[in-house]
Formats: sequence, C-alpha cells, structure tokens
Amino acid sequence: MNRDEMLKKVHAQHGPWDVIIIGGGATGLGAAVDSASRGYRTLLLEQHDFAKATSSRSTKLIHGGLRYLQQGNIGLVAESLRERGLLCENAPHLVSHLSFLVPNYHWWEGPFYGIGLKLYDLLAGKLGLEPSKHLSRQQTIRALPTLEREGLRGGVIYYDGQFDDARLAIALARTAADHGAVLLNYAKVTSLIKKRGQICGVKVTDEEHKHSFTVHGKVVINACGIFSDHVREMDDTKSKPIIAGSQGVHLVLPRSFMPGKTAILVPHTEDGRVIFLVPWHGRILVGTTDTPVTRLTLEPQAQKKEIDFLLRHAARYLTKDPKPSDILSVFCGIRPLVHKEHAKSTASLARDHTILVSRSNLITITGGKWTTYRQMAEDVIDKAIVTGKLPQRCCITKNLRLHTDPPLKSSKRLHPHLPYHLADVMRAIDEEMARTVEDILARRTRSLLLNAKASLKVAPKVAHLLAIALGKSAAWERKQVTAYEQVAKHYTLSDTPR
Ligand SMILES: Cc1cc2nc3c(=O)[nH]c(=O)nc-3n(C[C@H](O)[C@H](O)[C@H](O)COP(=O)(O)OP(=O)(O)OC[C@H]3O[C@@H](n4cnc5c(N)ncnc54)[C@H](O)[C@@H]3O)c2cc1C
Repeated sequence: MNRDEMLKKVHAQHGPWDVIIIGGGATGLGAAVDSASRGYRTLLLEQHDFAKATSSRSTKLIHGGLRYLQQGNIGLVAESLRERGLLCENAPHLVSHLSFLVPNYHWWEGPFYGIGLKLYDLLAGKLGLEPSKHLSRQQTIRALPTLEREGLRGGVIYYDGQFDDARLAIALARTAADHGAVLLNYAKVTSLIKKRGQICGVKVTDEEHKHSFTVHGKVVINACGIFSDHVREMDDTKSKPIIAGSQGVHLVLPRSFMPGKTAILVPHTEDGRVIFLVPWHGRILVGTTDTPVTRLTLEPQAQKKEIDFLLRHAARYLTKDPKPSDILSVFCGIRPLVHKEHAKSTASLARDHTILVSRSNLITITGGKWTTYRQMAEDVIDKAIVTGKLPQRCCITKNLRLHTDPPLKSSKRLHPHLPYHLADVMRAIDEEMARTVEDILARRTRSLLLNAKASLKVAPKVAHLLAIALGKSAAWERKQVTAYEQVAKHYTLSDTPR
C-alpha cells in the first residue's frame, strides 16, 4: 500500500463509489474487506492513522468473553466463539492459541468455573480450541510458577485466541487493498453532502497536504467508534448521542513477573468484573479497567486510581508485587459502547453491535468487539446493499484468507530492549502507509506499548529514515520527534496525574 498512489486513485475515480466508509478501526477496515471482496467499489477514509483509536488499545484477545457468559449473554458468547474459530482459520499467522488459568482459592471455585468453562467449550462447537481441564495444586504451580501460593487449591485451564490488534488492522487494510479497495489514512471527513435530503458523498480534508476535496458514493457508512456521534451530528444536528464511552487501562510489566506461557484470568475484581494478566510480545499485559468517561479523545489518559487498581489486583495473584517503577508502559482505550437508557454502569452495557440507518441513509455501525469484526462487517454491508440499492452479492469473508507478508530479511536491531529491526521500519514505510514516527513506533511496531522509554530513544533514528523515504526536510524530522515525545509521555507513568 502506498498513500500517494491511493490518493491518485481517489482523484481518478469516475462516478460514485459504491461504498464510502468513514473510520479505519476494526469496524471500518472489516467493512472495507467485506465490501471490496464482494466486488463493490470501496473507499475508506481515516482521519488519523489506521487503528489509531480504540482498535490499537485492546487486551489483544480473540475470545468468546467469559464475563458475558457470567452475565448470561449466551448469544454473544456463541457468536464470538464462532468468529474466534473462523479467524483462527483465516489468519493463522495473526492469531495464536493461548492457555488461561483461573486460579482456585476457595473450595467452590473449581466446580463453579469448571462447569462454566465446559459450557464455553460446548458453545464453540466444532470450531473449538483445546478443551478446558482441571489442574491440581501442583499442576497449577507448574503452569504458573510465580502464582501466589498461599491458600491455592488448584485451577481450571481453558483456551482462547490472542493477536496483535494494530497488526491485524494493517492486515485487514492490505486484504481490502488486495481486493481493490482504496484506503486513505490522514483523511478526515468534515461534512456530509446531500442531494434531495439523501446523503450522496462526503467532504474530506487531506491532513497531509491541508487540501479539501469531495467524493461521491451510493452509500456512506459511519464506523467512527467513539466519534460516531460527531458524524451523526453532521447528518442531523438534532440526533441524540448513542455512545457511552468506557475507558480501559492496561499496564505493561516485564516478563519476569510471569515467565510461563499461560495467562491468568482473575475471575472477580473489586468492581465485579474480570481482569487478565497476559503474556504478549515478551511482556505481561495487565488489564483492564471499566471507567465511564465523557471526554472522548484520541489519546485518553489513565487515571491514578485505575493504575492502583490494576497493581493491587496483580499483586494478589503474583508472588512478587509489581510496583509503579516496574511499569514499562501504560495504555488506555475507550470502548464505543451503545448507551442503553437503564444500564447501571458501563460494565453492564452489552458488547454486541448496533446498526442504525438515518432518514438521509447514513448507516452507523458501532459497539461490538474486535473478535466479532467480521460478522459486524457482513451485517453492515448487507444493510448497505439495501440502503444504497447495490446489486446483490454474497459475503465471502467466512472463508477469506487475510493478507500474509513474506518474512523480513534479517537486519540491525532497533534497540536492545525492543524486539524490532530496521527491516520492520522500512516495511512500515514502503508497504504499510506509515506516515509518522508515531505510526511506526506505536502501531506498525508496538515499541511504544512494550517499552515507552526505549521507544523514545529510537524516535530520532526512525524520524531520519522516514524523512529520507518521504523526501522531507530536517525541520520536518525534528517536528516528528517532538510530536512523538508529546504522545509518548502519556504512556510513561511520570505523566499520570497522581
Ligand atoms: C480497553 C479495551 C480492551 C478491549 N479488549 C478487547 C479484546 O481483548 N478483544 C476484543 O475482541 N475486543 C476488545 N475491545 C473492543 C475493541 O477494541 C473495539 O470494539 C474495537 O476496536 C472498536 O473498533 P472501531 O473501529 O469501532 O473503533 P475505532 O478503533 O475507534 O475506530 C474508529 C476510527 O474512526 C476514525 N474517525 C473518527 N472520526 C472520523 C472522521 N471524521 N473522519 C475519518 N475518520 C474518523 C477514528 O480516527 C478511528 O480510527 C477492547 C476495547 C477496549 C477499550
């Protein structure tokens, strides 16, 4: 993928696009894959970088969601488990199986979680991963040597999928492009164009060239996550907000806190939810929180109480208590939950998706999970076919293999504390439409999440490579480093209001 070529294709387009998608997160990118693979002329516009918002800040699990099982939302769990199975088949290079241990410290926990997890296995049917099983105290300690042993009776082990969210987003963008879609990052939709009260296009600002243009389409999909209400307001200034933002924080700790290959599911937190301690890219992710927020922004910030909550819960389950000074990075995302009038808290709002069609035919899709992006895409493109009067064509994504890259040639390592090489940076620039230092260090590689301070050290080198490749000046290069420092400070603990 090359941004200049994508831009040329946008300007060379004769006649309306069949489908215009606003938003390049999991939902929009999934819809672009579905639409393009059915043969519709598809344009996706993303205001910042692909997966900049919520879709790069998840817990990185492709899962049925045990919590939804606890809540009795069997339909959502069954759908998610089916999607988990399909994604494992269609993207084995992007999703791996991970074992999770539910530690038991009370006599009733073994049978209680054991039965719940058997139901989880059953709901997955023939797309299931390995079956869950009980472990004795000794087996539990062998699986997780750094698990708190005091009062430990045993555990139940089960399996789910794990992935790298921002990398899957790029794989989706490339799959869509392989099928002929045009995708543009740094392209912000600023207004909607209507003809006789019906939406027929959008006005876009190319954020790189500070230049505005219009594009026409038979149908426009709003997949803007937590910003969906902004686009709904562009359509109808009187539209009622539907998004209830809920912030989730993750801490990243060194692997030494949990050196094995098994994750921990903490089944009951102080606020009645679950949290995970998960091995990921040689680190441990601890998360997440569920804090209602009204300020919906691209760079949300962790609150001190959220960090304390995660450290406190991790300490209960690990032999060594993690301290603030152990934290390598803190990242935070906001769930685009759909507001339900009578929900007591955001934790009780459903994670299933919602599709709305406005009077002027703006299609809004929001809610859902990364795990269910494919089903969401199928549903919204089915809706687009009817709304935009497109020729009927069947969805093919259930068996559609996602884009695969050849392995990278060996090259110099970027930094001793980061698992990336110069070849990762060059691929990001040459093939993955990375345009800024942040794109490369936060999403094409996950340097910012794995070790925020180390990522700051390599920012000047990355800025230099990027400036050469894009033909930019030394002043641009310096600005890139400063801009990256501004973003990265939110991921180091020193910036958290204490
Ligand atoms: C803390 C946390 C943990 C999670 N963990 C998991 C998990 O483990 N597994 C799982 O399945 N799900 C998980 N989720 C849920 C999942 O991450 C989200 O459901 C999903 O990423 C939402 O994707 P989206 O595309 O709808 O939104 P986003 O990723 O936010 O994408 C919307 C995009 O629209 C763009 N946009 C907005 N306005 C405009 C405009 N005017 N013009 C152009 N573009 C615009 C934004 O820049 C943004 O990139 C988690 C969520 C959170 C917050």
